[in-house]
Amino acid sequence: MQKIQNFINGEYIDPIKGNYIDNVDPGTGKVFASIPNSTQEDLEKAVSASQCAFPEWSSMAADKRSRILHKLADLIEDNLEELARMESRDNGKPFWLAKAVDIPRASANFRFYASAIVNFSSEAQVSEGFMVNYTRRAPLGTVGCISPWNLPLYLFSWKIAPALAMGNCVIAKPSELTPMTAYMLGELSKEAGMPAGVLNILHGEGKGIGQAIVEHTATKAISFTGGTATGKIVGATASQQFKKVSLELGGKNPNIVFSDCDLEEAVKTSVKSSFTNQGEICLCGSRILIEDAIYDEFKEKFVKECQKLVVGDPSDDNSNLGALVSESHLQKVDSYVKLAIEEGGRILHGGNRIEKDGFYYEPTVIEGLDENCRTNLEEIFGPVVTLNRFKDENEAIRISNSTRYGLSCTIWTSDLKRAHRVSHAVQSGIIWVNCWLVRDLRTPFGGMKDSGIGREGGNEALRFFSEPQNVCIKL
Ligand code: NAD
Repeated sequence: MQKIQNFINGEYIDPIKGNYIDNVDPGTGKVFASIPNSTQEDLEKAVSASQCAFPEWSSMAADKRSRILHKLADLIEDNLEELARMESRDNGKPFWLAKAVDIPRASANFRFYASAIVNFSSEAQVSEGFMVNYTRRAPLGTVGCISPWNLPLYLFSWKIAPALAMGNCVIAKPSELTPMTAYMLGELSKEAGMPAGVLNILHGEGKGIGQAIVEHTATKAISFTGGTATGKIVGATASQQFKKVSLELGGKNPNIVFSDCDLEEAVKTSVKSSFTNQGEICLCGSRILIEDAIYDEFKEKFVKECQKLVVGDPSDDNSNLGALVSESHLQKVDSYVKLAIEEGGRILHGGNRIEKDGFYYEPTVIEGLDENCRTNLEEIFGPVVTLNRFKDENEAIRISNSTRYGLSCTIWTSDLKRAHRVSHAVQSGIIWVNCWLVRDLRTPFGGMKDSGIGREGGNEALRFFSEPQNVCIKL
């Protein structure tokens, strides 16, 4: 059985207290690795390594840092197969998906910020004959990056790439459920020429080492992606020390289908937005709102497409969906399906665990629920979608905004004016019109309401990981 280590000061080392936790393969339900359950002692080592590394890394010319990050992006591409295989085994997602999306995107994250940092400029204001102001943007020092299990290397790199590009040193913690690709990244960062101590990767449980990273006075900013309940604790802890904090949290995203849409395209993409990655993407549309006039037609076509989906071994290229990440997550998903039935929902497809080793669940489609029932308000984060009717635009907007979340929304219509109107009325940080999950990394990424605070992406992330300092010179 594989035993992984922390990556501190450019070396793989055992956790000081020698505590480990099991890592389970969701595809088989069997333990396949053990991972450090790090403690304060490991964190102190990482903090001192990062502080020693900071002066050199932060004062290095941006184009030199950029070259190291480009090299890391290259190495991720060179190791695509192996990283994708490990990500699929760790998370339960199909190998083909990890290979086509997760790992290429991790490489793209490093490449994007490697380029962004050499194009980043700070602002200057000239009041002719009176004064010049310019804003210096300095890196913060040591920062903490904490990521979830659903898109392991993709989200891990989305945080650490801008932090490193800006000249910070990083202490990062991947989810204890999916540590393997973050573990592999340590070695690749060393091969790319990253100085020791710049990137430190600690493994372990959130309430232990995750909380310790947030509490430590040395971490000057915390970039966190995970559940809303955890985000509340992270935000409260970080604010005690006035740390900068960015929270990317849960969602209950509406997918609004108007009768004037391209129905074939709306159905095809809605199947993807409901079930890609077993529905374990924060941006998945979990409430499909359909205009009355096309409800029956959409439903028939949608269910027919869902019946074609294959749930199976993550290593099999024919599997559309793999396994859910853990037994406890599967139990949570199943409990919501049972709740939906109690709440009056009708199962149109799926609704059951698949009886084989591992954590497999059928893609599940439910209709007939009240817009305000728990199934329609709470995040399930699995392969479960509800179909709901609406009469007109106002009702669609009202239902869309009826949850505590505001992460993303998809709108299907061929009426351009309506697309703008509805986009502006829906309380979501990200709106897709006639598409889903299309991303330009320059754009701000993040949610409204309980879906989080702060934005990632583009220059937003470079600003987050730096401190502005205004310098005023009298002319
Ligand atoms: P989670 O909140 O349980 O854990 C996320 C990370 O936080 C893990 O690394 C965990 O170990 C750590 N953690 C847990 N308790 C902590 C604490 N007290 N202090 C510091 N760190 C702690 O979330 P999860 O189950 O891993 O991920 C699923 C959730 O993430 C869903 O709600 C999903 O919507 C959300 N998510 C959001 C986005 C986004 O961009 N908005 C993206 C992906 C996932």
